Amino acid sequence: MEPVASIVGAPTSRARAKKYFIETFGCQMNVLDSERAGAQLRRCGYQWTSDIEEADLILLNTCAVRERPAEKALVRVSEIRRRKKPGAIIGIMGCVAQAEGRRLIERAPDVRLIVGTQAVGHLAALVTKVEGSDEAVVDVRAPNRPAFDRLAPEERRQRHVAYVTIIEGCDKFCTFCIVPFTRGRERSRAPEEILAELQALAAAGYKEVHLLGQNVNSYGRSRRIEGRRMGFAELLELLAARSGIPRIKFTTSHPRDFDERIVRAIERWPQLCPWVHLPPQSGSDRVLAAMNRGYTAEEYLQKVALIHGASRDISLTGDVIVGFPGETDEDFRQTVRLVEQAQFDGLYIFKYSPRPRTVAARWVDTVPETVKTERLMELVEIQREVQRRRWQRYLGKTIDVLVEGRSAKSEKHWSGHTPCHKVVNFESSMENLEGLIVKVEVTKINPHSLFGRHVESREGSTM
Ligand code: SF4
Repeated sequence: MEPVASIVGAPTSRARAKKYFIETFGCQMNVLDSERAGAQLRRCGYQWTSDIEEADLILLNTCAVRERPAEKALVRVSEIRRRKKPGAIIGIMGCVAQAEGRRLIERAPDVRLIVGTQAVGHLAALVTKVEGSDEAVVDVRAPNRPAFDRLAPEERRQRHVAYVTIIEGCDKFCTFCIVPFTRGRERSRAPEEILAELQALAAAGYKEVHLLGQNVNSYGRSRRIEGRRMGFAELLELLAARSGIPRIKFTTSHPRDFDERIVRAIERWPQLCPWVHLPPQSGSDRVLAAMNRGYTAEEYLQKVALIHGASRDISLTGDVIVGFPGETDEDFRQTVRLVEQAQFDGLYIFKYSPRPRTVAARWVDTVPETVKTERLMELVEIQREVQRRRWQRYLGKTIDVLVEGRSAKSEKHWSGHTPCHKVVNFESSMENLEGLIVKVEVTKINPHSLFGRHVESREGSTM
C-alpha cells in the first residue's frame, strides 16, 4: 500500500500539546475520513505533526481493496513500532480495521486502538478512553447507521478542494468486493444538508468539490423528498444551480445505474466537470455475470456512447480486473476489445486477488500469477497507446487549471487539475497562483500529465 496522504491537519500554536500523525491509504473517502479524524483530535487538544517520531498518537487509515490488506497494515505497524517514541499510541482505522477488528490486536499487541469506518465521528471519545486505560479500545460498530458528519471549511486540510460524502455503503455485492461488508448498505445523505455544506465551502472560498460515494449514481434510492425520490442527476443540477461552487466532480459511477440524465446535466451546467469514472471491470459477459456486475459489455458500451456523444468533451476513466477466477484467454480478448472500443482517458488495471468474506474468495483462483501479469502488461500497453492518441486533443488548447501548489517535481513550476481531472504542470512568471483558476496553454503531452504555460488573456475551455 502506498500512502495517498501522510499528513492530515494543520499546525496550531499551542505549546506542549500532544501530537498526532495520520497515514492515509486508498480512496478519497479515506482522505475525507482522515480529515474528519484530524478535526476530532484537534478538538480534544492534539496538534498535527509531520514527524512520526514525535507523535503521541499514530493512526493508519487503511484500505481493504488492495492485495493482502491486513498483512500490509501489520508490516507498517512493525515499522512504526521501531520509530515511535516510548508511550506513543498506535491505532488502525479504515476498512481493514472494520473488517478485522480485534484480530489485529491479537496479531500486533502494540496496536491499542481500532476505529471502524462508522466510528470516526467518535474518535475523540475513543482516544480519551485509550489514554486512560491499559486495555486496547475497539469500536467496529455496525456500518448501517447514518454517519454523515458535516466538516466545517476551517476543519479541512486542503484550502481549495473539498471532499463531501453524499452516499455511503453499497448494495451491489460484486463477488470480488469487500466494501458492502466494511461500509455497509447504501445510505443517502439529505440533499439540503449536502447543499448547505457546499454553500459553506463556497463562502469559505473553495473552488472544487468532489461528491463521494461507492456508487454515487444510486443516490436517493434509500431516501424520498416530498414523497418522491431525488435521483443523482437532480442532485447534481441542484448543486450546480445553488451551491456557488465553480467546479463539481463526482466519483465513483456504476455502469448499471449511470444514465443519460447525468450526461444531460453535465452538458447543461458548466459547474459540473466533464469527467466520468465508470469502471467496466471486464469485457466478457461471462466474467461480468460471475462478478455480479449486472450489465453486459454491450450495455456498458452503450453508456460509453452516451458519454462520448455528448456536446461537451467528457473525459472517461475506468477500472479493470484481470485474472478473475475462471477468466479464459477468450474472456481476456473480450476485455481487450472493450478497452479498445471504450477509448478511456485513463484506466486503472488490477490483477485479481481474493478478499476475505467475499463470494469469489471461496472459488478456486484459476488463473496463474504469471498469466495475470502477462494480461496486465498487455492491457497496460494497449491503454498507453489509446491514451497517447486521445490526449493529443489537448495540445495547443487553452485549459482552465485550478492551481493546487508548486509541482512536486520542480519548484519552478505550478501544478493543478483541469475540470476533466488531468494533472497539469506549467510555467508562470507570477509569484503566487495557489487557489486560483488560471488559463494554461498546453504545450506538451506527458504519459500521465499535461505541461503548459500560463496565459493571461485568452478564454480557457471547460475541458
Ligand atoms: S459496486 Fe463497487 S463498491 Fe459496490 S460491491 Fe461492487 S465494486 Fe464494491
